[in-house]
Amino acid sequence: MYERSEHSISRTQISDNALKVLYRLKKEGFDAYLVGGCVRDLLLGREPKDFDVVTNADPEQIKKIFRNCRLIGRRFRLAHVHFGREVIEVATFRGKGDEQDEKQQLNKEGRLLRDNVYGTIEEDVWRRDFTVNALYYNIKDYSVVDYVGGMEDHKASTLKLIGDPETRFREDPVRMLRAVRFAVKLGFNLDPDCQKAIHTTSTLLESIPSARLYDEVLKLFLSGYAVQTFEMLRHYGLFQVLFPATEKSLAVEQDGFPKLFLIRALQNSDNRTAEGKTVTAYFLLAAFLWEPVQTIAREMIKKGVPEYMAYQDAANEAVSRQVKLTAMPKYITTAMREVWGLQPKFNARVGSKPSRLLTHPRFRAGYDFLLLRAETDGVDSELAEWWTRYQSANENEQRKMTQPGRNNQKKSGLKRNFRRASQNKPKATET
Ligand code: ATP
Ligand code: MG
Repeated sequence: MYERSEHSISRTQISDNALKVLYRLKKEGFDAYLVGGCVRDLLLGREPKDFDVVTNADPEQIKKIFRNCRLIGRRFRLAHVHFGREVIEVATFRGKGDEQDEKQQLNKEGRLLRDNVYGTIEEDVWRRDFTVNALYYNIKDYSVVDYVGGMEDHKASTLKLIGDPETRFREDPVRMLRAVRFAVKLGFNLDPDCQKAIHTTSTLLESIPSARLYDEVLKLFLSGYAVQTFEMLRHYGLFQVLFPATEKSLAVEQDGFPKLFLIRALQNSDNRTAEGKTVTAYFLLAAFLWEPVQTIAREMIKKGVPEYMAYQDAANEAVSRQVKLTAMPKYITTAMREVWGLQPKFNARVGSKPSRLLTHPRFRAGYDFLLLRAETDGVDSELAEWWTRYQSANENEQRKMTQPGRNNQKKSGLKRNFRRASQNKPKATET
């Protein structure tokens, strides 16, 4: 246990609503702690994403205490205490009934035998993943309770699993992705045993339901550290489990330019996050699958499928393969197809087409995608520049720009590029 004077967490860093919940539970005679990511982040002086509370009160008792409270979850019930937009999650200490047991019973009986296994704080600790995620801030005396050496690891900036790494990864392979996510986000190192275990258990990720993997992918890539995350996932062989077609495309190309495209897309998204702009999942996912789509399309074109159809079919194919692993919602895959579908349309620079394209709901995303391609993908930068000028031009200038016989007569850069790609000539030799 670390007393108030032995750690850096101050109540001024804690959300008022979280404090209200903690004090109220205490007043009603229960134990109450902050736990998990928020304690870890507070120790780093960072503002936590959210505040999680654990207590020895059971969900029904919690519900009686807080009017603004909703119980959620079937297998393990949790309380959500609502304060306007802020939600404080309040969980009851989890007990021993370990996940393996529960799963076996679930498989045999086909239904849930035990919904709730409540326990003590000593038992709750062992259900958590990393030692730095298993620190408890006690509202009673403002101490930090540590059963697993989490404070030491925190000081040493190390992510260490509680217990045997391989066993813990087998129990829940998503912990491997969490390891990478936290390592990048916190700037922590993975404990060597943990690293070793990832290499032996990485393929187990395939068994995770695709919806859960999709959620994790979003957390991994939309948090503002997409480039580092990508590199680290690749380093541990996890990226190829999540995005096998993308990984393959990175390996095939040797002149380095497809990889550059993806990196630039990730970089771009990190920059946007840093500037406080929004990042959209579909844009990044479209970038991930861009090269696979083209690979499939090239094959089809070789077999005589017309170019236009080939790209559409290739898009469908690439998406349907990917959703088996990471179940992307329909509105996401639709938007990805739109971004891809816009690319050849940027070639039309004569007449009324450009002005119509400007009103396309995905124009902005499609144009941003084009810019990235112009930087890295061998697309005429002249074409991208034309669109940049066209957008900011007034109506008169726009009309001039789209008149036949102006600089727009050049045959489509994209089409040439597609053809070039289909002949499989490395881009580097062309410039
Ligand atoms: P973030 O900053 O992303 O919220 P977090 O550590 O709070 O990080 P959560 O997913 O919010 O992560 O989970 C809260 C806590 O629950 C974790 O700190 C950890 O103690 C525990 N936990 C979450 N997921 C797992 C898991 N798959 N296995 C074991 N423990 C987990
Ligand atoms: Mg959290």
